[in-house]
Amino acid sequence: MAFEQTLSIIKPDATRRNLTGQIVARFEAAGLRVVAQKRMRLSTETAEAFYNVHKARPFFRGLVEFMTSGPVVVQVLEGEGAIAKNREVMGATDPAKAAAGTIRKDFAESIEANSVHGSDAPETAREEIRFFFSELEIVG
Ligand code: ATP
Ligand code: MG
Repeated sequence: MAFEQTLSIIKPDATRRNLTGQIVARFEAAGLRVVAQKRMRLSTETAEAFYNVHKARPFFRGLVEFMTSGPVVVQVLEGEGAIAKNREVMGATDPAKAAAGTIRKDFAESIEANSVHGSDAPETAREEIRFFFSELEIVG
């Protein structure tokens, strides 16, 4: 297993319900380390650019509206196999299909308002980290 960094976003449905600390605690309990973190309100342009890969999907407009509806917390998580480990802790995209004990099973409101984002592969992790953070902001 490789030592990796991955981009995590705590989404507006979770910040609205004051779940940031509980979600971070799950990452830390799984052995992931928060090596960068900031709370921000995404602009429409930023959310569209981040989710550009989904721009042809029917849910794109709703997703951008949701992601700009309140603050998010963007983070870099680090650890052995961090990309897969984070996705395991997050659970399936649709909370109805997420395994017991995962963040999405326990906290997500819907397939759209599903509390967290996590990068899905090494190349997207690198791109997504670079999208939000400078090297100076990541302290391992
Ligand atoms: P993420 O990329 O946020 O980590 P994911 O990789 O599990 O989640 P993707 O397929 O990349 O899921 O979709 C990105 C996001 O778009 C989802 O997390 C969810 O917020 C939203 N989304 C995905 N599918 C749907 C859908 N069918 N209806 C509404 N929103 C959706
Ligand atoms: Mg994805």
